[in-house]
Amino acid sequence: AKALGRNKCWFYTKELKGALKRKLAIEQALRIALEQDEFILHYQPQYRACTKELVGAEALIRWQPRNGSLVSPADFIPLAEETGLIVPIGDWVLRTACSQAAEWLRQGFPPFQISVNVSPRQLVEADFADRVRTILRETGLPPQYLMLEITEGVAIREEMETLAKLLPLKQQGVQVAVDDFGTGYSSLSYLTAVQVDSLKIAQMFIKDIPGSGGQAAIVKAIVAMAGSLKLNVIAEGVETEEQYEFLRSQGCHWIQGYYFAKPIAAEEFEQLHGNRQ
Ligand code: C2E
Ligand code: CA
Ligand code: CA
Repeated sequence: AKALGRNKCWFYTKELKGALKRKLAIEQALRIALEQDEFILHYQPQYRACTKELVGAEALIRWQPRNGSLVSPADFIPLAEETGLIVPIGDWVLRTACSQAAEWLRQGFPPFQISVNVSPRQLVEADFADRVRTILRETGLPPQYLMLEITEGVAIREEMETLAKLLPLKQQGVQVAVDDFGTGYSSLSYLTAVQVDSLKIAQMFIKDIPGSGGQAAIVKAIVAMAGSLKLNVIAEGVETEEQYEFLRSQGCHWIQGYYFAKPIAAEEFEQLHGNRQ
């Protein structure tokens, strides 16, 4: 048994070394990706539930390595957050999304909201609000068209102090959405303290509606609460007509999901958008 234990230990050490090596390699690759412009943004349209008109788009990052296939954010965002690389990557995302949205406005597209995901690591940076302001000024995007998505976990975990940094941006007209709403354990007091504008119902609650009683009841409760707080409710991960119909009948305002459109490249977004108007 002793010998086995020693073997096991040796095995784990080797495994750990391998994992560490792999992590360092990805970190290095991410640095290069940033320098060499290997990231791209896809845009997923959001539609008003009752009219199906385009009201917004969420910018979602992808990594396109020179000689490899597209890497999904789930495979590199966590490591980017761990290493702090999410700060420069997040800046790039904000700048690219704002500049694209400003360009679409200049081209005469009907105005819509552009949503950008903000990681907690970005939010705790002392100059976060300044960075956003600078990007808005330099890209020429009017602040009211930018929506920052903060995950509910962050809204609870981080000090109110950190969230208070959003207030001056809010005064300028920037919108704030709580992403993955319903997955954290929150006192909900932050909703009014931070003057949140929108709630994005977590995808896990959408998956089984209208079928399962539990999920449907949670969605109903969130929509009702948002209604009395005068918040905009967005459902994401909507894949079927039944889900869409249920959400619309409940009074959910905006819909995002494969049922309408997947996240798509800017050129494709322009085509789709042009056809719909
Ligand atoms: P998220 O912010 O919750 O984004 C929604 C995810 O759901 C996206 O995955 C989107 O492609 C996917 N999705 C949209 N509609 C449907 C649908 O109908 N069905 C299903 N099953 N999925 C749908 P994606 O693009 O792979 O992004 C995954 C996560 O990575 C995001 O989750 C977000 O947390 C993070 N992420 C993506 N881009 C950024 C970014 O620029 N910055 C930061 N900090 N995080 C990002
Ligand atoms: Ca999001
Ligand atoms: Ca989400």
